[in-house]
Amino acid sequence: MSTQPAWLLRPGCLLSADEGFVEGHAVVVRGSRIESVLPPGRQDWDGPVLEAPRATLLPGLFDSHVHLTFSADGEVVANLLSEDHHEQVARAAANARAALLRGVVTLADCGGRTDVMLDVRARMRAPDAVGPRVLVSGSPITAIDGHCHWLGGAVADETAALALARVLIAADVDFVKVMFTGGNLTAGSDPRLHQFDAAALRGISEACREQGRALVVHAHTEAAVRLAAEAGVTVIAHGTCLSPDGTIGIDQATIAVLRASGTAVDATITVGARTDFPGAGGNAIPRHLQRQAMLPVFREMAAAGITILAGTDAGVPGVAHGDIAASIVALASEVGMPLEQALAAATSLPARAYGLAGTTGSIARGLEADLLLLDGDVRADLTALQRPSRVWRSGRLLVRDGELAGASEAAFAP
Ligand SMILES: [Zn+2]
Repeated sequence: MSTQPAWLLRPGCLLSADEGFVEGHAVVVRGSRIESVLPPGRQDWDGPVLEAPRATLLPGLFDSHVHLTFSADGEVVANLLSEDHHEQVARAAANARAALLRGVVTLADCGGRTDVMLDVRARMRAPDAVGPRVLVSGSPITAIDGHCHWLGGAVADETAALALARVLIAADVDFVKVMFTGGNLTAGSDPRLHQFDAAALRGISEACREQGRALVVHAHTEAAVRLAAEAGVTVIAHGTCLSPDGTIGIDQATIAVLRASGTAVDATITVGARTDFPGAGGNAIPRHLQRQAMLPVFREMAAAGITILAGTDAGVPGVAHGDIAASIVALASEVGMPLEQALAAATSLPARAYGLAGTTGSIARGLEADLLLLDGDVRADLTALQRPSRVWRSGRLLVRDGELAGASEAAFAP
């Protein structure tokens, strides 16, 4: 029997790992872990209790796509290029804490400088850290002068791309990110053009699988989506499904390949929701128009049972750090996913994609006590997502009454 302190939390409703939303259940947390989830009538308990009858308990949120060193305004690239290592680490740590405040307990940084991001991760791994669990890709692998080349991952050819993937894995990144097509943020980069061939993707995919790393592939064209799925990559970021003529759509053959591969699609659906940030690159299509045209694509994917993730791409122009509630709401209200599925896209599904299903992303016995208590019943009122009252990471209370705990205040506590 563990001697760590235990406490019981009884919310009005909670999102359970296998039953969806349930009422009257209680969660017992011991130390850093969820010891049990107790159904109504089986909750004999004489230890500390937190009663929260008007609150919703969710697994701590998991944002599958962020850029912690990006400033979320029109000056992303200029800011990044003007900041030294320590300034980038400080910006990233502040952005990570902003996300924690909004209920994000785990996040995947899908592209920053490798040395900077390894430092940020080390900070967030410290036992007294007040911040989310951070997974890092380090520098995204890209072409010379290609999309996000200013993050240090530019390579001359396919052989060098595979070699860099191996170097990154040896440096202990959590996953690998490849810019398969051009992107919107980089001057001179065209989202309709491919930066590598499919063989390169297959080679990197195999190297990642051998080493137990997820592979996240940035893809804006429909052809790139199909090739990435055929290569067996873990996650396709954006999945815009642009055609060479500039239209957006997905055909049934691509849907079938996606289904067969099990590849998840990170919709980054909040990108382009605001139209007052023109972005820095030579955009082929204004992003807010892209976004409107993408909604039917995501509806088709969802209807076909393809795993959709709620990553935000936080840090790019117009997408604030921590605004994952907007992604969940967009998946529910604009793509039409059932609320439980939209929440899974920000909890259990990214945890599974990144190999952390046994650690976080669900309220289930034995997992880390990564928990988010929302003020209100989210089933009746989606704005409850904007009101995180308490956030625990591995059993430590890091946000209380909507405020970040100081390092000395964070504690194993209800
Ligand atoms: Zn991104």
